[in-house]
Amino acid sequence: RFTEVAQAPPDPILGVSEAFRASTSPSKLNLGVGAYRDEDLKPVVLSVVKKAEGKIFNRNENKEYLSIEGLEGFRKATVDLLLGAGHPAIKEGRVAVIQSLSGTGSLRVGAAFLARFQKGAAVYISNPTWGNHRNIFGDENVEWKYYRYFDADTVGLDFKGMMEDLKAAPPGSVVLLHGCAHNPTGVDPTPEQWNAIADLCQERNLLPFFDVAYQGFATGDLDKDAFAPRLFVDRGLEIMVSQSYSKNLGLYGERVGALCMVLKDKETATRVLSQLKRLARALYSNPPTHGARIAAEVVNDKELFDEWKAEMRGMAGRIERVRGELQRALERKYPDKDWSFITRQIGMFSFTGLTPAQVDNMTNKHSVYMTRDGRISLAGLNSAKVEYLADAIVDSVRN
Ligand code: PMP
Repeated sequence: RFTEVAQAPPDPILGVSEAFRASTSPSKLNLGVGAYRDEDLKPVVLSVVKKAEGKIFNRNENKEYLSIEGLEGFRKATVDLLLGAGHPAIKEGRVAVIQSLSGTGSLRVGAAFLARFQKGAAVYISNPTWGNHRNIFGDENVEWKYYRYFDADTVGLDFKGMMEDLKAAPPGSVVLLHGCAHNPTGVDPTPEQWNAIADLCQERNLLPFFDVAYQGFATGDLDKDAFAPRLFVDRGLEIMVSQSYSKNLGLYGERVGALCMVLKDKETATRVLSQLKRLARALYSNPPTHGARIAAEVVNDKELFDEWKAEMRGMAGRIERVRGELQRALERKYPDKDWSFITRQIGMFSFTGLTPAQVDNMTNKHSVYMTRDGRISLAGLNSAKVEYLADAIVDSVRN
């Protein structure tokens, strides 16, 4: 019956980790997946996570199902983080929030909601974007189209192209925006540009859908990293937001996240939430407990919250430092090329501009594993490996 099923292509990001694991090279380096590593390139469990887990364990809580919309303490915490505690939209009860399966699952519930309640609307995604966006919307039969985003010449934002493409989108279309630390480019709009994007969404009746996967991870400051979605809400726009705690709390495998919809009024929010629950019930019934308890514990406890912020600054700071070191090494080895983009880009990644053939050289000759779009995760780099990586890049760029 299933003998005719074709082989699916490997995932462009997680497939890199599989290839890395299979490599026997002693100098191999995994810069593919966006997961934080410490200076020894080991995965990190945050100290606040361990403390929160201790408290949860001591409370001897049960393993009953959560409600479909998730853990109350987590739902409150996640909206507070997004909009800032005490925000008028929260007081007015017009935020519909459902805990879901990290960023991916939250995006997927959002896609299912759009498929059902915005029939025929296309979602505009940046070119390039995180590779899974196309699958998530495509698998819900939501049509997706690209808007221009990255300018390879300036290694910056193609703001003019972006605005032209969004102006041409039919009213009612959805615009997927990265809340901060755009993946894969590390290039974000300026505050002025965000204002212009909000103007355009208002004028053209476009629905902004923010993917917030790196709050606190970009600058080390939770509030600064929430600038864009907060601006849109304060300007009176309705927005959808997916949130992920994979990176900022290091809860990758626990699948902690939420879909928030900031709506016109409380009555709309109540009805929208009922439909989000209806969708989630059939997709996975209810979300997992453990990670949500951890996130709620950390955000709702003043001491743990402050410690979390310090740990986040530590992670963002280590990435900043290796960015600087990599840039200086490349400037030394290949001074004719402008490498300043490496420290201009923010977040976990650098978009190097390496072509697929150059990436193949990085992997096949130097055992540096990375995605074929030329993205490297700086979270997988340490000081000891900077020279090695810089040599590999120079060799690949020169040949
Ligand atoms: N959106 C973006 C832009 C991402 O980079 C990621 C993680 N790589 C996600 C969403 C979702 O990740 P998760 O499902 O682990 O929260």
